[in-house]
Amino acid sequence: MAQHILAIDQGTTSTRAIVFDHAGAIVSVGQKEHEQILPRAGWVEHNPVEITANTRYVVGQALAKADLNIGDLAAVGITNQRETAVVWDRHTGEPVYNAIVWQDTRTQSIVDSLGALGGGADRYKAKVGLPLATYFSGPKVRWILDNVEGARAKAENGDLLFGNTDTWTLWNLTGGPNGGVHVTDVTNASRTMLMDLDTLNWDAEIAAEMGIPLSMLPEIRSSSEHYGVGVGVLNGVPITGILGDQQAATFGQACFDVGTAKNTYGTGNFMLLNTGTEKVASRNGLLTTVCYKIGSQDPVYALEGSIAVTGSLVQWLRDNLGIIGSASEIEGLARSVEDNGGAYFVPAFSGLFAPYWRSDARGALVGLTRFVSKGHLARAVLEATAFQTREVLDAMNADSGVALTELKVDGGMVVNELLMQFQADILDVPVVRPKVAETTALGAAYAAGLAVGYWGGEDELRANWAEDKRWTPALDSSERERVYRNWRKAVTKSFDWVDDDVR
Ligand code: ADP
Repeated sequence: MAQHILAIDQGTTSTRAIVFDHAGAIVSVGQKEHEQILPRAGWVEHNPVEITANTRYVVGQALAKADLNIGDLAAVGITNQRETAVVWDRHTGEPVYNAIVWQDTRTQSIVDSLGALGGGADRYKAKVGLPLATYFSGPKVRWILDNVEGARAKAENGDLLFGNTDTWTLWNLTGGPNGGVHVTDVTNASRTMLMDLDTLNWDAEIAAEMGIPLSMLPEIRSSSEHYGVGVGVLNGVPITGILGDQQAATFGQACFDVGTAKNTYGTGNFMLLNTGTEKVASRNGLLTTVCYKIGSQDPVYALEGSIAVTGSLVQWLRDNLGIIGSASEIEGLARSVEDNGGAYFVPAFSGLFAPYWRSDARGALVGLTRFVSKGHLARAVLEATAFQTREVLDAMNADSGVALTELKVDGGMVVNELLMQFQADILDVPVVRPKVAETTALGAAYAAGLAVGYWGGEDELRANWAEDKRWTPALDSSERERVYRNWRKAVTKSFDWVDDDVR
């Protein structure tokens, strides 16, 4: 058998290709960033054609770095930014519009009008596990059909296809207009607001209400099975795994047991708790979502706490304020002061996601005095990530009825030791980082490898997990609760900011 598995991680800021070996260790990495297109406040787009070109490029890069060729690959797995919607012409392969990214808030009026039909934000929640919000793919597809000239007629004629970027990537890698496979997996489908969580099929009633023809939608399959075979850069290699990025990280962290959880610190933060084959409805602002489904086995569900802005606030400090030259400089700047100097930064740039789901919120920087310096600001930025995570963890504990005893972490921000210590302090539970921090790509590799027998089962994957570092809580409880109370007060200052007429 070929010796390696390739994972393609089509992320929000870049696309990566990572070659893994049988021990789950990284052999080589290819990576390329793509443009963040920001046409106006609240709008975020990507060029799907650029993403496809980058995907092909990084696959070649990863193989070349390891001196491998496609004959050395047993299978390929795909993981992706979820909810980001692409609509394209099935005959030409041309997107009809840029990809509308998960953070984009332009669909607020669509979301409001659907809620006004009755039930408000909870209109579809019992079926799809999600509150009505601009975050999910369905309303974005509706926006494209309503706003791109000729799109609706073409869609109704069966000429257009929709996919999150997993589907777009798979379709292109398997031939595009010449036989491309139009498929998604259950985890990605569970982020559209269009899939029934029990039947794992598209819900025709919701699709009709959202004005989305069923003919556009990809076939829903499990997360680990044979979808198709690559052409071109991956000629002849089977593509056998798809997981949305957060579910992939959960899988890569070997959270296979009920009650295990991970938190990923990337552009945003996403905590997922495995609830097993039982679908748990949240009473505390979390999402119910599919965690994974391996071949013909039963689906495994998760509770998810999604936070829109964490690492991207560090980018904002770098790109919009120029206070730091690179993301890694924030730690030194934050260490130049003792504490936050009384400043709290609520980064409600896209409203607030879990546990509030307040689309009327906007960013707030409060507690400012003349004393506050850029060092304090750097602290407030890092602390915002930790405080938001505490809110999500409290909601998880309340929903599941069990208190989490430690938190497995991963993602680009977990190199920040100051943040990790503060996180342990604010949660009052240990925070644990694994040796392979690229858990998202690893999870996709695992899903692909299981489908072709490269790995024998979950026990083998569990054995690959190894601890790198652990941070234990060290803050006294009165100080912990004091700063957290201040944070909660700061959050209320971000509410009710967007005027109904302009959003
Ligand atoms: P994604 O997969 O969402 O694109 P990553 O997991 O690659 O994101 O993480 C990138 C994020 O991590 C960026 O938003 C960046 O600002 C943040 N980041 C990178 N290094 C650091 C650091 N040393 N301290 C804090 N944040 C960091």
